Amino acid sequence: MKALVFEKGKLKLVERPVPEPAGDEVLIKVKMAGICNTDLEIMKGYLNFQGIIGHEFTGTVVGADKDDELYGRRVVGSINIPCYHCSVCQQGLYNHCLNIKCLGIRDKDGAFAEYLTLKRENLYPVPDEVNDREAVFTEPVAAAIEIIEKIHIRPTDRVLVLGDGKLGLITAMVLHSVGLEVIVVGKHREKLAVLSDMDIQTYLTGEFHERVQVVIECTGSSSGLETALDLVQPEGKIVLKTTVSGKNLINLSKAAVNELMILGSRCGPFAPALRLLKRNNMALEKMIDSVYRLEDGVKAMERASQKGVLKVLLENY
Ligand SMILES: [Zn+2]
Ligand SMILES: [Zn+2]
Repeated sequence: MKALVFEKGKLKLVERPVPEPAGDEVLIKVKMAGICNTDLEIMKGYLNFQGIIGHEFTGTVVGADKDDELYGRRVVGSINIPCYHCSVCQQGLYNHCLNIKCLGIRDKDGAFAEYLTLKRENLYPVPDEVNDREAVFTEPVAAAIEIIEKIHIRPTDRVLVLGDGKLGLITAMVLHSVGLEVIVVGKHREKLAVLSDMDIQTYLTGEFHERVQVVIECTGSSSGLETALDLVQPEGKIVLKTTVSGKNLINLSKAAVNELMILGSRCGPFAPALRLLKRNNMALEKMIDSVYRLEDGVKAMERASQKGVLKVLLENY
């Protein structure tokens, strides 16, 4: 099969044997995959990952018995593969497993290939109403849903999303679609325009000066937390969504004086993400910049790394 492999600091399209499902895994033919900022970070050395990259995908289960309920089903897959044995797993905190494997990110070949293997427990059938282009957004939509899984946002709260990159826009769409009042502050007029058909207020950086109850930090920049501290009201909540590798000195006295809650948030649940996608009230299609063939994966990654580019997809039909 063809696969997009990152090895020794280089990204290449190579021929690889079709993977053999192990244990409780099944074989999946990948149909569509999405390039995420994490993939771009891996190119810069994030987690020293070597292997097939990619973790946002939709595909069809091909390697299972014909009478298996998953056989022939269109699925998406959650990316974390916990060990179930370590001390953290024993407390039920599987996403924080000490020996965690992560599809296309850590110790497990990923989705930018013709085929991948994944455990059954990671798979979720995709409803017919959700097409392949929408289904690849399940993982980032789930990551946005994780915010309301972790903290209580009151229906009367104003929620400010900082950042107009992929994660910021998806987070805004998700929180808006569950009925919250959402404001987005970003640097790019054309990216903010993705939200124009939704009832979401948008501002360019520096133009918004009010204080809100909840700030979601999605800027991808180490100065994002400082901005969040300025714009959250006393006793408000800040959710950190970006993982920044840079180190920054931040004065956190505001957090103490104003009695703020600051929470980190990462991967989220797939089942509610698919229910939201089925309702089809988000403008995800507008986020798609381009679709490349898997064979042109190196070009696709170059495109995705350019400034101002939102979602780049890889197709393998
Ligand atoms: Zn991702
Ligand atoms: Zn574990």
